[in-house]
Amino acid sequence: MSDHGISSGRRVGTVVLLAVAITAIVLCGLAVMKGRPAWNDTEGNPAAPGVDGLGAGPPRKDQPKAAGPQMHVAQTGKDNLEGDRQMTKFGLAAWLHRITQFNSAEDVEAYADRLAAAGYDIFIPCVKNTHGAADFLTDLADVNDEYPSCDPLKLLIDACRKRGIKLHAWFTVFSEGGKSRLLREHPEYAAVHDSPRNQPWICACRQEVQDYVFSLYEDVAGRYRPDGLHLDYIRTGGPCRCDACKKHMATLGVDIETVREKDPAYELWVDWRVSRVTDFVRRMRKLTKSEDMELSAAVFPSYPRSISNQGQDWVAWAEQGLVDYLFPMGYRTSVRQAKAFATSHVALVGGPVPIWSGIGKASSESTLTPAALGEQIQAVIEAGAKGAVIFPENAMTDEDFEVIRKIRAK
Ligand SMILES: [Zn+2]
Repeated sequence: MSDHGISSGRRVGTVVLLAVAITAIVLCGLAVMKGRPAWNDTEGNPAAPGVDGLGAGPPRKDQPKAAGPQMHVAQTGKDNLEGDRQMTKFGLAAWLHRITQFNSAEDVEAYADRLAAAGYDIFIPCVKNTHGAADFLTDLADVNDEYPSCDPLKLLIDACRKRGIKLHAWFTVFSEGGKSRLLREHPEYAAVHDSPRNQPWICACRQEVQDYVFSLYEDVAGRYRPDGLHLDYIRTGGPCRCDACKKHMATLGVDIETVREKDPAYELWVDWRVSRVTDFVRRMRKLTKSEDMELSAAVFPSYPRSISNQGQDWVAWAEQGLVDYLFPMGYRTSVRQAKAFATSHVALVGGPVPIWSGIGKASSESTLTPAALGEQIQAVIEAGAKGAVIFPENAMTDEDFEVIRKIRAK
């Protein structure tokens, strides 16, 4: 599996960086003029950033669960914004692709010890991969034939909770491949993109597709009670030209086979894609609120390009309080670029939802030595990010952890 499928965004990277910087400046100006954004109360206020300012998520009914970021709270004065920005205490999380590697409770306990020693606050294991099978027990999808009998997801949740680490169950939302029951039964639900991609996608705009993925989230939430749910591939994968999308846009007078990006009518198509992806996030917000769980999302680092290309308006999600954390995947080997991304992301969101910057320890866009990893984490925290999310966890070494420990101990 690739790193969240983000490598396809590389072509526009340079242009988008510039666009992001300009947008950030404009939005900062607007924020100053408008004051704080108005929240949509029907969706609930965004999670109040915890006393730690790291984004502790919604209040919990059955405290304590995992202790969370407050373990690493910096006791800085709340009115000292500059001091806050410069703080070196920060949240730490990581993504892990496969939990089928755990064959026993002993495996899981040993791994959880590693996570605790590393100081992780949130652990994000993938439980619905891009192949489309479930890495948890369910009747609604095919369970991965590699899933062991010991139920590693349940063991991981228990083991992390004992150690004060929150677990967010990670889905690749709109990507399904060779092990997908949905696509086997409904091949017409596959997305149709301009050019063949190395990542299989399902049409994010179809209600049946959204209902299916949502039912899986409901199932994992009900069966396993994780601390949070995590959205990844929460985007269209590109403009989809499947029959359902064509038919819908025709009702609005737009022929998606011929419309060009510079045409005014194209905006109607963009609006449709954005509204469909946001509909799903809103539905997930209602689910996580009712289940007393957190909601986090991995998002494209290039904004606003993610709007037109992916239907992903994550700044709007923050404005509407639909998520508790945003994890922009600004994977770069360059510290300068990673910091520029973080600066723009923090400016775009403006505070109500914490930005935890995705750090590409080993990704299609980046390779970081322990020293470079430390430098990059420090850079994004200085830029205002409240945490760092490592991709992927299994690339981390003892040396990496030592570097992080030293930064956090400062
Ligand atoms: Zn479609």
